[in-house]
Amino acid sequence: MPAIFFGHGNPLNALDDNAYTRGWRAIGQGVPRPRAILAVSAHWYVPGTHVTAMDAPRTIHDFGGFPPELYRVRYPAPGSSALAERASALLAPTPVGLDFSWGLDHGTWSVLVHAFPDADIPVVQLSLDERLDARAHYRLAQRLAPLRDEGVLVVGSGNIVHNLHTFAWGRHSVAPFDWAIRFEAYAREAMLLGNDEPLVDYESLGEDALLCAPTPEHYLPLLYVLAMRTPGEPVAFPVEGVDGGSISMLSVRVG
Ligand code: ZN
Repeated sequence: MPAIFFGHGNPLNALDDNAYTRGWRAIGQGVPRPRAILAVSAHWYVPGTHVTAMDAPRTIHDFGGFPPELYRVRYPAPGSSALAERASALLAPTPVGLDFSWGLDHGTWSVLVHAFPDADIPVVQLSLDERLDARAHYRLAQRLAPLRDEGVLVVGSGNIVHNLHTFAWGRHSVAPFDWAIRFEAYAREAMLLGNDEPLVDYESLGEDALLCAPTPEHYLPLLYVLAMRTPGEPVAFPVEGVDGGSISMLSVRVG
């Protein structure tokens, strides 16, 4: 089973039919049917490592100021207590909390409504422990790699470049910032070379990295997907583009 990083961008993509969402649909159609999905979303960035373990995770509308249609979107995929238990076992000795209160946030459902529109594949979310640094996240993710052989699609959802201070919210399109182009190009090159080290240590990459990942939560899900890769395995970028000047919509497929 491949592992996929989705650049999710604006929550309104959930309702849109555009180049990004058509790309997400093609990604879903291009992988073997997963037995279940383990999703690591930028929007569950909390103290501690948790997995959703309920049978029917709710659709969380974790944003404000969007049109009412977006609040009506539901993604009624079942949960999987079995996958929650399995992920928890793989992550040992890191304590993992079985969670019954979160659900599927928009980092997960805004892409899955396109990639797997039937919502019939069980989905479990894994939180990002805000107390861990990037390297600790990468090491944690490596322990989840056996899930690929068990038919589980590991999904990371964030954005490699995510700067909302400079994002153009209007309907007009703006050219990407130079620093966004440079950092994304650097990241792509490192991924093509199979060189994860600078991407794990991204905070030492200078000003471009600081502008592109001013906070870690949208960047870290990428590391969960890169950590799934076996040496020499191919990597591809099935969706590309920069939205609003400072949000990279790059998707990354490993395997
Ligand atoms: Zn987001």
